[in-house]
Amino acid sequence: MFGNISILFAHLGFAAAALLRVCAAVSAEEDKADYSGDQVYRVFTHNASALVHDMIRPVVGSQYDVWMQNDKFVDVRLGRDAFAEIARENSLEYEVYVSDIEAAIRDTMPGNSQYDVNSDSMQHAFGSYGGDLFFDEYRDLHTIDLWLQLLEQTYPSLVKLEQITTTPEGHPLNVVHVSAQNTEANPDKKTIVISGGLHAREWISVSTTLFMLQRLLQEYGQDKSTTHYLDSLDFLFIPVFNPDGYEYSWHGDRLWRKNRQATGVEQCPGIDLDRSFNYEWDESEAHEYPCSESYNGGAPFAAAETKAWHEYLGGIKGDYRIFGYLDLHSYSEEILYPYGYSCEAVPRDFENLLELAFGLAKAVRLTTRKNYDVVAACKDAGSDLTPGMGGGSALDYMYHNRARWALQLKLRDTGSHGFLLPPKFIRPVGHEIYAALRYFCGFILNPEM
Ligand SMILES: [Zn+2]
Repeated sequence: MFGNISILFAHLGFAAAALLRVCAAVSAEEDKADYSGDQVYRVFTHNASALVHDMIRPVVGSQYDVWMQNDKFVDVRLGRDAFAEIARENSLEYEVYVSDIEAAIRDTMPGNSQYDVNSDSMQHAFGSYGGDLFFDEYRDLHTIDLWLQLLEQTYPSLVKLEQITTTPEGHPLNVVHVSAQNTEANPDKKTIVISGGLHAREWISVSTTLFMLQRLLQEYGQDKSTTHYLDSLDFLFIPVFNPDGYEYSWHGDRLWRKNRQATGVEQCPGIDLDRSFNYEWDESEAHEYPCSESYNGGAPFAAAETKAWHEYLGGIKGDYRIFGYLDLHSYSEEILYPYGYSCEAVPRDFENLLELAFGLAKAVRLTTRKNYDVVAACKDAGSDLTPGMGGGSALDYMYHNRARWALQLKLRDTGSHGFLLPPKFIRPVGHEIYAALRYFCGFILNPEM
């Protein structure tokens, strides 16, 4: 692992590499969450609520975690013995999806492969599409922050790193502003916002955001369409929207989802960033418990990260024409369109919004043959069944306030690995979503839109 990192930062010299070694060594001593007795089960049921509240809770209390649910099945993590009992008593129809969670977690961590600091592969870190070691593995927060600095140094005329706040745990929350700096030539320049990592454990959303960022920069001046997109559009990338949570998912609990902010309950820190925005923020019971995985923070923008983004967007980016928004999550291979908070609310310009969503799905399909479903965000959130379930999301907030076109992308896979997608999928997912982004750019630059 250290070999990789040292090589990655050969440009930054030994100081940076040494710093990384220290950070990694300290964090290795922390206690880590242990999931060795648990599995992830796909239970086939039309009634997720009954499964969770009437069958699972009475047996295990809060010792379970719903990974995903829809009107056909529920993916849930819980202890083997408890599940066996629950399944037997209720005659559940199910399949084991992740049988060894600890092994699956280990598979998402960088391996020990060593590289020579002076090898050619490093020389190509930012120079070629294929030779970049960075996307061999998921990268921790320190590595990503240093990589972003390296990116800014490599592309000074295109990239500006903007730290919009320091998180409660002292990490920078970075926005990467990509601009060909020709605003005078394009007074009406539109801006696309892309965010990853609102939920800490969804690592593929972080790597995919970074992948798209890098491809855009590498192809500028090389690829005709990309050059056109970058000359005509500005981009704001937020690769790690939840730095504290992401850091904790590396060194404390791989399956952590929320941020790490203190709540009213000491043993239950963390606010769900994707419930913390002010548009249709949900006051219902479902999201008011600090120990819930979807805790809404008690008030809109209670989370430091979403508050900082709101102020940044309304402040120094207040006059930007935010035209597009893509919010990356995992998992389920879906493209979600607004609104999340309610299925009654009809999105504006619905026909074109659908055309856009299906266009993205087609771009993915033509790249890797993966079929992403186009779904209303309210259905995915369950707010068609339980009103308020999808309130306070980044998608609705951006769509309502600033972005003419906004979608949430739930990346791979469909459940075999769930949140624990192995790193060999980083590049394929990067390629397919980058293709979707290119379609998105073309759509937004269509003068009729
Ligand atoms: Zn998510």
